[in-house]
Amino acid sequence: VIFTQTPSGTPWVGTSCQTMGAHYWWPCKAAFFHQEDKADSVSIQLTVPDTLFAVSNGRFLGTVPDSAGWKTYRWLMTYPASTYLITMYIGPYVELTQPIPIPAEKDTLLAHYYILSGNEARARKEFFPRVPDELNLYTKYYGPFAFAKDKFALVQSSYPGMENTTAVAVGPAFPHTLLPGETNPLQWYDRQFNYMVVHEAAHEWWGNAVTALTWGDFWLHEGFATYSEALWMEHRFGEEPMHQYMAKMSFKVDSTTSVYQPRHKTAREAYHLNIYWKGAWVLHTLRYVMGDEAFFKTLREFNTDPRYRYHNAATADFQAACEKNYGKDLSWFFLEWIYGTGWPEIHFESQVSGKKVTIQVSNVSTSRTRFKIPLDVVLHSRAGAEKRRLWLKPGQNRFKLTAKYPVTSVDPVGLRWILSRKKHGTMWYFTDLDFVMGKFGKGLELTPERKLFVKEKEASYISPVRYLFRGAKFVRLRLDTSKDARWKKVALEARAHFFRKKNQKPWEKVNPDSLLPGNLQHARSIEYRLDFSRLTGETLPIPKVILTYE
Ligand SMILES: [Zn+2]
Repeated sequence: VIFTQTPSGTPWVGTSCQTMGAHYWWPCKAAFFHQEDKADSVSIQLTVPDTLFAVSNGRFLGTVPDSAGWKTYRWLMTYPASTYLITMYIGPYVELTQPIPIPAEKDTLLAHYYILSGNEARARKEFFPRVPDELNLYTKYYGPFAFAKDKFALVQSSYPGMENTTAVAVGPAFPHTLLPGETNPLQWYDRQFNYMVVHEAAHEWWGNAVTALTWGDFWLHEGFATYSEALWMEHRFGEEPMHQYMAKMSFKVDSTTSVYQPRHKTAREAYHLNIYWKGAWVLHTLRYVMGDEAFFKTLREFNTDPRYRYHNAATADFQAACEKNYGKDLSWFFLEWIYGTGWPEIHFESQVSGKKVTIQVSNVSTSRTRFKIPLDVVLHSRAGAEKRRLWLKPGQNRFKLTAKYPVTSVDPVGLRWILSRKKHGTMWYFTDLDFVMGKFGKGLELTPERKLFVKEKEASYISPVRYLFRGAKFVRLRLDTSKDARWKKVALEARAHFFRKKNQKPWEKVNPDSLLPGNLQHARSIEYRLDFSRLTGETLPIPKVILTYE
């Protein structure tokens, strides 16, 4: 239970009971090991000073007066709920509502936003244009919202975020979420969306409606909510940004622990960050193995299956649901990726001679797990593209293919879907996305056609802060000059980023095709600047800056 004050000094109370702790503030059994541990329904009555508003789970039944200066807020959660999701928020809240049409269900959901008084305009700007899209996306992929008769609600909270059912905590501030083409007022905010809403709201499906049977199955909450972030990226920005998002996440995956954590008895041990990053990654790879149709059909069936919705499910239940739609055994996949540790290191080489293609793939594991995995390759020719699925066995693989037409190039497209670490080019960012987020100097303008107009001499662009990932040997920042010769006149500079201005070091020139200057190799975060002053008066396409880890 968190007792604090709002910025204006009014009492502000909240609770967050991720994993264990609910029993410290209300009488309950604080675990979700068996189905019977969900409460069938919960009635909550909160008596507070009558100047404050008390929000809780479920539907609002009204208030009753208490002794002088106090009143009681009555709430009723009519659906089964895990005890760790029961919550209270007390403060100077106001309620905003938004009817959200859900065409796929021929229904309208009334979303409630409980916001501290004075924050209404910001909340409207943040939530109203986006939450309808998020709820419709989740309905499409995961099935109808499970608690529709009670409510869907987001609540401003003093702590960062928590998936409290029907009253999801979204943190104290609302970082402005970007729509394509918008500029980010918070330059340091290195995300394309409001993580708290995209992630925590996904838990209404994964965690709150379908709950893990044991702590070992905890990735069914966090892996799925984290993969929802990538699905949002794909939905909102396209496939390429989704792959970039997943590539970025791959650097956080730990090779020594599995996604399923069977031997861990306590909640604290089971709550390993790998259930987030590797949990999301195995779903990405599983989607690729099964194909979109079977994968998304499975997610929806699994989430809406009456055996699991409002109850609990195990990893084995999810596997059975996948196998039903895939039509084949998937125990090899689950053993390798979910019960096993590590990932494959895949090294791909190809030689082309007319229609004949020889492919050599080395598939070496970073752990004791041996990986069998399909690798999709596209054979390009002047007549078009042919896709082939090659099944890699552990170790060295050699394939001889014959294409219909003479092959011009071979693209191992499947690598983007497989959690693996390649030696080169594992991570990359393009400025195409950055230009939505970075800071423009006054001499530089973005035209409606998404071209750059260099208006006057002081024409620069400063990227948002880039957090560099540890674990890479070298960081390379490069300006791609291949598409437009004028890009060669753009100067690229970088510097380590410091929140305190007085620590800020001067910009350093980055030479084309060389590594970042030595002291920046070990920086935690960097910014880069593109200087267009040698191109005054020109209108040019947005150049690409590519950040790679080697
Ligand atoms: Zn989560």
